[in-house]
Amino acid sequence: MELHYDVVVVGAGIAGPILSRNLAKKGYKVLMIDKKAEIGSPKRCGEGLGIANFKKYDIPMDKRFINREIYGAAIYSPSGYKLEIRYDKVAGVILERKIFDKMLAYYAAKAGADVMAKTEAVGLIRKEGRIAGVKAKHEGESLEIYADVIVAADGVESRVARWAGINSFLPPHELDSAYEYEMIIENFEFDPDIIHLYFGNEVAPRGYVWIFPKDEDRANVGIGINGDNPKTAKYYLEKWLKENNIKGTKILEVNVGGVPVGGFLKELVKDNVVVVGDAARQVNPMHGGGMAEAMEAATIASKWIDKALSEENLELLKGYTDEWWAGEGQKLLRILKVRQISEKLSDDELDVAVQALSSADAEKIAAGDYKEVFKALIKNP
Ligand code: FAD
Repeated sequence: MELHYDVVVVGAGIAGPILSRNLAKKGYKVLMIDKKAEIGSPKRCGEGLGIANFKKYDIPMDKRFINREIYGAAIYSPSGYKLEIRYDKVAGVILERKIFDKMLAYYAAKAGADVMAKTEAVGLIRKEGRIAGVKAKHEGESLEIYADVIVAADGVESRVARWAGINSFLPPHELDSAYEYEMIIENFEFDPDIIHLYFGNEVAPRGYVWIFPKDEDRANVGIGINGDNPKTAKYYLEKWLKENNIKGTKILEVNVGGVPVGGFLKELVKDNVVVVGDAARQVNPMHGGGMAEAMEAATIASKWIDKALSEENLELLKGYTDEWWAGEGQKLLRILKVRQISEKLSDDELDVAVQALSSADAEKIAAGDYKEVFKALIKNP
């Protein structure tokens, strides 16, 4: 079957639906496809999202996808020093991504985009030396989807960018391996109104263990470690659970995935192919969160796709690369530098850092003001 659209979007995670919604609202003919039979499922996420993103990206605060409101965070050093940042208003939420992703696709569809689940992109269509669309499979049927612009929003394992000739190779060191249980936590004290992050070279090399509460006694308990570690993320998570006497006998879900924590794509556009979100490695390399970053990239990309299509000049798509790299890209590079410094700290130094940071302005740290971090460390060496 042959289909014709202005824009075809591969991937209905976070970046895909935001971009599809924005362009459908502008009146473009958009098709978003996802290989999942059920959009959003299975999830591979801790499901934590800052509250400001709802307003910023025009997403309704729908109770159907909000498990729990979160008021802050506690950071634990290897020897158990605790730094707590707590607000008197909601700072973030723990989502139910299976519903969230599906609702984002619903908002895109309501805005006018077509959506096809269980439809896998398997290659690109090339005509007269240029990329003309996407080849896909739906329930065994072959589809040829012709479009002026092709969007690769196909996540960390993206193939669309590679098919277009973009070098998206990610060395193992630029990838974190993540492993997570959604589980019932018994006989272990944790405040379910804040998230909990545990650091230490023996706890989680380069990363941390997280508890993201979904209920008083139910949480996403996960870990991210450097992808080139000879041991697995599962090994470190099991070890941490055992050391903290948390029984792993009430596990509701297991999530395994890779998180790109560096190696941001330099080339975000090739001809008429635009790469967004995890596919472009647009993830915060410090904490591994990528939802807000995917939303931001989708917003910038949709603006430039609109400009390129309305002015009938696909060269303008490159404006997305320039704008993203001038703002977001520079910010993520600075965060990457801080991460590279922090990953060299010994456990003793991590203990000192957490103690020193307790005198810093928590609001500024939470807002990513790294000058505040350095000020505190210099004041309390
Ligand atoms: P994705 O959400 O991965 O969506 C890509 C979509 O493309 C998928 O639905 C996939 O099915 C589809 N697809 C892929 N290939 C094809 C194809 N060939 N044809 C059709 N469809 C295709 N981020 C946070 O902000 N907060 C967190 O708490 C958090 N926790 C995490 C915990 C873990 C264990 C992991 C692995 C990641 C976590 N992240 C978190 C990162 C976050 O999940 C991603 O950054 C975010 O989902 C990126 O959105 P995306 O739209 O780029 O990609």
